[in-house]
Amino acid sequence: MFITLHAAAGALAGELSPSYPSAFAFGFLTHFPLDMFPHGDRGFGHRAKHGRAARAYTLMIVADVVAALALMYGAILTGRFDRPFHAFLGALAGVLPDVVVGLTEYAQVIKKSARTYFRGFYRFHTYNHNRLITFYDFGMKFGLVYQVIVLLLILKLW
Ligand SMILES: [Zn+2]
Repeated sequence: MFITLHAAAGALAGELSPSYPSAFAFGFLTHFPLDMFPHGDRGFGHRAKHGRAARAYTLMIVADVVAALALMYGAILTGRFDRPFHAFLGALAGVLPDVVVGLTEYAQVIKKSARTYFRGFYRFHTYNHNRLITFYDFGMKFGLVYQVIVLLLILKLW
């Protein structure tokens, strides 16, 4: 799932939380229900391992991270949040699971490492992302439309 969506959901949870630790905790927790539902990127890691596709996917991830940063930066600058630091912590925690998983996948694919960082967490994340609801996933295009709709709904709640 796009980082932008995880950041937006985490920010919402953070904004609604009464303290910094709870903003972080609730932001973190928003990650997993969002990942559970099919959203078009189940074959993403696998496809992204090869040649041209790898470059296209890397570009997409960079664009996604830039979009997430721009969204958060813009929202904080324009005073969208009553508690901007709560929202910021929530957003940070909301993307953290994918940072942990991304480190392992980067090490395995690029560095040919056999290492799995935070193995138990990595397994849990993969299980939650790929197996919990269904083995089925949408195509990437339909997944993209679905994610944009969910993002707009979350932004409406900000
Ligand atoms: Zn994830």
